[in-house]
Amino acid sequence: MPVLTQAQLLQGWEGAAGQGPVARAVALAAAAGGGSIAEAGELPLGARDALLVGLRAACFRGDVECLADCPGCGAELEVAVPLSDLRRPGGGADGTGEGEVCADGRRVRFRALTSRDVLAVAPGGSASSDARRRLVVRCVLAVDGEPVDGEALGAEALGAEASGGAAPDHPGLTDEVLAAVAAALPSVDPGADIRLDLTCAVCGHAWAAPFDVPAHVWADVDACARGLLADVHALARAYGWREEDVLALSAARRRYYLEAIGT
Ligand SMILES: [Zn+2]
Repeated sequence: MPVLTQAQLLQGWEGAAGQGPVARAVALAAAAGGGSIAEAGELPLGARDALLVGLRAACFRGDVECLADCPGCGAELEVAVPLSDLRRPGGGADGTGEGEVCADGRRVRFRALTSRDVLAVAPGGSASSDARRRLVVRCVLAVDGEPVDGEALGAEALGAEASGGAAPDHPGLTDEVLAAVAAALPSVDPGADIRLDLTCAVCGHAWAAPFDVPAHVWADVDACARGLLADVHALARAYGWREEDVLALSAARRRYYLEAIGT
């Protein structure tokens, strides 16, 4: 993606600040070229996060610095993650982000999870088994060749739960079938659940650590935006310049003026 201007980066930051983690990831993906907020919300999670990795690469230098706790000995490790480790190929054998599984005598077609699914079912990031089940139901497109409106089924189930009734479901969507769909989801969206192969420098334990792409990209965007706003504040106060005037300055000129006013 092209480098965002500082004004565009601030705009993306403004749209994402104050939102929950999923809505924030969608706002950043939209700013990174994912279209409107609604369009970015329809992207498979891996495609959304690939846009965020692109944003990180275009706007910031260097590896992503993060901390990881070794599950073997508990040591806290500093890890520098190259952006190339966060890139995954697009999902789905046919490139559609859709796949098919056979389980419990049923043939089920399904699609990759999107942010809209997560926001509809577990906006606060709930990881309950019920929330996971509803997410998987939303991904179902067809059972034995017959189209199924998984999203509507998920919504009905939510309504039934709220009223205390039994969750209505499709007779073909047994626990075994849904477990098979859940297990196959990474095959259609490999970038949705990025894990890093780490080895502890203290005890040698090796493990696959989950990596939260939106959280790390947001941390960089947030720090950068706050630094820009602090510059604007200092220069506006000293010279009476407008925000757009300050943002239009080259980095070298801005640094000069900041030094001149003793910041
Ligand atoms: Zn260790």
